[in-house]
Amino acid sequence: MKIHVPSLLRTKPKALDKLGKYSAQLGFKKIILFLGEGIENLLGERIFQALKDKNIEILQTHTIATSDVKLLFDLSLQIKDYSANAIVAVGGGKVIDCAKYVSSISKLPFLVVPTITSNDGFCSPVASLNVDDKKKSFKTDLPKGVVIDTEIIKNAPKQFFFSGVGDLLSKYTSIFDWKLAYHHTGEYVDDFAVAISQNSLEAFVNYPNKDPQDLKLLTLFANSLLMSGIAMEVAGSSRPASGSEHLISHSYDQISEKPLLHGIQVGIASYASSFVQEKTHKLVKDSLVNTGLYDFIVNSGFRLNKHEFIESIKKAPEIKKNFFTILSMENQTEKLIDFINKDPMMNNMLN
Ligand SMILES: [Zn+2]
Repeated sequence: MKIHVPSLLRTKPKALDKLGKYSAQLGFKKIILFLGEGIENLLGERIFQALKDKNIEILQTHTIATSDVKLLFDLSLQIKDYSANAIVAVGGGKVIDCAKYVSSISKLPFLVVPTITSNDGFCSPVASLNVDDKKKSFKTDLPKGVVIDTEIIKNAPKQFFFSGVGDLLSKYTSIFDWKLAYHHTGEYVDDFAVAISQNSLEAFVNYPNKDPQDLKLLTLFANSLLMSGIAMEVAGSSRPASGSEHLISHSYDQISEKPLLHGIQVGIASYASSFVQEKTHKLVKDSLVNTGLYDFIVNSGFRLNKHEFIESIKKAPEIKKNFFTILSMENQTEKLIDFINKDPMMNNMLN
């Protein structure tokens, strides 16, 4: 299996203003520009200037308001008729997922500029898109370049940072579940992917300063999420970044009337899963507190609905076929629900 990883990674303050330079370094000359909603008003001038500085020609600009796969497929075919040699996408998760998909259909390389770091999807080989109003995952390539302007990330609303923290902490439980699957079903575990995922998580958790306004921390944090995405490419599956906690979160997305940000949900679900995994419980609990995620959830009102959360756990093992996790084992769901009913910290994160 061939692994394609980005060859250009820039995570620093004011990186957006060098977008033209980075695009040129990748050989991009005529591009299709994808912008998230609101990005043109917020950052348009800087984006256009940076591209103009290096004579990068913008053939088309699309503001992406929907991730409907049929519309994106049509757009991909339309783009093929232009002489573009790359796609550049600036914005949140939706526009980046759309760029991933369109680039894989139109066979154009792409560069992403995430303006929030709310999960590890900006550099992962999976795009989450709408098919008849339901979310579905599509396998894609990774971007050729990732440019993260830490000053932009710093100014984003705090829930995006803490959602990213939750997605990162979930690697404790996902790696455990992957190894558990090996012991029970013989599923192949890629040690290199585990090492990337674990190191990126630990680099963040062990960094002494957890102030989301600290640019050094944000650089490390964004790079950790990026490496977590790359670990999935190395593994050839989502295993190093997604286990029982992700199943619970996907299940919650289907059940809940008001799903929250992905990373907040998996952060809470990771705390729950770790209880039945036992070995990961102290690590997840301590990290939840030390990173400030626990306080954020308790104080900000980003809590999950207890009834819906329990229902999500019951349905979680059905979410993905042939995907062994701690919840595939006998009595673990019952044990977990009992924990949810009794544990004070858990209940502070639920409504
Ligand atoms: Zn995730």
